[in-house]
Amino acid sequence: MKPYRELSKEELLQLKTELEARYREAQAKNLHLDMSRGKPSADQLDLSMGMMDVLNSEANLKDSEGVDCRNYGVLDGVREAKELLGEMSEVSPDKIIIYGNSSLNVMYDTVARAMLHGVMGHTPWCKLDKVKFLCPVPGYDRHFAITESFGIEMINVPMTPTGPDMDMVEELVSKDPAIKGIWCVPKYSNPQGITYSDETVRRFARLKPAAEDFRIFWDNAYCVHHLYDDDQDFLIEILGECEKAGNPDLVYKFCSTSKITFPGSGVACIATSPNNLQDIKKQLTIQTIGHDKVNQLRHVRFFKDINGIHEHMRKHAEILRPKFEAVLDTLDRELGGLEIGSWIRPKGGYFISFDAMEGCAKAIVAKCKEAGVVMTGAGATYPYHRDPKDSNIRIAPSFPTKDELAAAADLFVLCVKLVSVDKLLE
Ligand code: PLP
Repeated sequence: MKPYRELSKEELLQLKTELEARYREAQAKNLHLDMSRGKPSADQLDLSMGMMDVLNSEANLKDSEGVDCRNYGVLDGVREAKELLGEMSEVSPDKIIIYGNSSLNVMYDTVARAMLHGVMGHTPWCKLDKVKFLCPVPGYDRHFAITESFGIEMINVPMTPTGPDMDMVEELVSKDPAIKGIWCVPKYSNPQGITYSDETVRRFARLKPAAEDFRIFWDNAYCVHHLYDDDQDFLIEILGECEKAGNPDLVYKFCSTSKITFPGSGVACIATSPNNLQDIKKQLTIQTIGHDKVNQLRHVRFFKDINGIHEHMRKHAEILRPKFEAVLDTLDRELGGLEIGSWIRPKGGYFISFDAMEGCAKAIVAKCKEAGVVMTGAGATYPYHRDPKDSNIRIAPSFPTKDELAAAADLFVLCVKLVSVDKLLE
């Protein structure tokens, strides 16, 4: 297909008339569709209903070390939960603290603790004139909301196909002691589905930050969320790389079972160095007597081991894969060769990221909404909701049915075409 920018003004005007007619037809269908929600569909949640049966009034609620999980105690999680989430995080159980139901909550607490109490004896961030974070973009809006809520200045770092622009990360981090952290989603990133290359992970591990209390916030939310059994991304393990590089305390690694079992009712954890663990536990012991051990046991008894998790994730993939492919195939078929947008075919995770021509994202999202299709707000993938190019749109294919997605994707590409033609006619 001919790129739109090679069309003459007359051709563009002719195309605009045709597209507008199709848009009016779409509006008449009275669609009510939503591609904004990055959450599992009900049939995915059904996969975990067996978890409700593994504990009942007859169940033995003692853990493998004889702890009665019905009672108070065990600050950092029951042994078998540390083993299971340790396997998932690819670290030994003694490098883990098991938390409550959400990793976002752990990340919030980790930033809040650094603000209030400082990191390993350093000045609390709230007492500093300026605290800054690096934010690979596009990225996860809720990460940015945490740092924004604490008044931390956020600096955009562009993503590349192999992870954040590491030349820029190294340069900024080594020169500016006010930079205290970076948000990373290293595997099947939100929203692009990019997995950091080995070289990127090693460069992170070898960073020489000007601030001794600089930490990498490594949110491995999609560590086991593959779409294909025979075509998976591989991420090397960062804590081991940091130890090898003589930088053992550089990373806080987070993950949870949110999009494995029940989001909001899962189990979250942090994995980090012994020094960091000790630092965290000093405060955690004031904050809680311990998290929900019954839920930890429920998860372990349901999955048994990491193979149980992988098997379960294959069932999620069976449901998710056709949905991702329905959207991606529509993008390929309808927009391929037109040079009015670009996208990446992710091999896992929860999102598809679409980059429209500059200055078009807000208008595309608005046009979709006018015809009954809700997309994530344009700008949401950038700190302060400011996408400097007004170009990125996050597509979440997990929640609607496949038929709904096909209809929503058809409308989306129509809106992309319409807005792009208008832009070219300006
Ligand atoms: N991290 C990333 C990158 C996410 O995309 C999400 C959910 O969309 C979360 C964390 C939330 O995880 P949790 O439910 O464990 O708080």
